[in-house]
Amino acid sequence: MKLVSEEAFGEENRKKAAALTGYEASDDDRPEYRTYTCPHCHHAWLEDRDASDYPNYCPACGEALRPEPREPIPARWLDKLHGLPVLAESEDGGERFWAIVDQRVEDAVLVLCLDGERILPLDEYRFYRD
Ligand SMILES: [Zn+2]
Repeated sequence: MKLVSEEAFGEENRKKAAALTGYEASDDDRPEYRTYTCPHCHHAWLEDRDASDYPNYCPACGEALRPEPREPIPARWLDKLHGLPVLAESEDGGERFWAIVDQRVEDAVLVLCLDGERILPLDEYRFYRD
């Protein structure tokens, strides 16, 4: 088998496609590809830049590639998390710590953390499960 450069290979395929379809694609019609490397197994492949929905996992190892956006726990659920650990994060992101939910107190949550009991206002803190 003869090794050809990627450019020559593309040129060859364009000629074949043009012969089959009678239509010669211009450079503008060619999809743009970029190389993507899996951060988990380092498998590399080409992704179509113009595709609107990339698969969100590696074709080799199946690991998720882009983390799902984190959703904070809705305030109404906090009542049901008594005794469970949550990750508390201040609105500005300056403070993050694990705490055990004790109970909801009006517009705040009473939690137990390393500093002892704290009352965290719901409009100043968000809560996550991980
Ligand atoms: Zn992978």
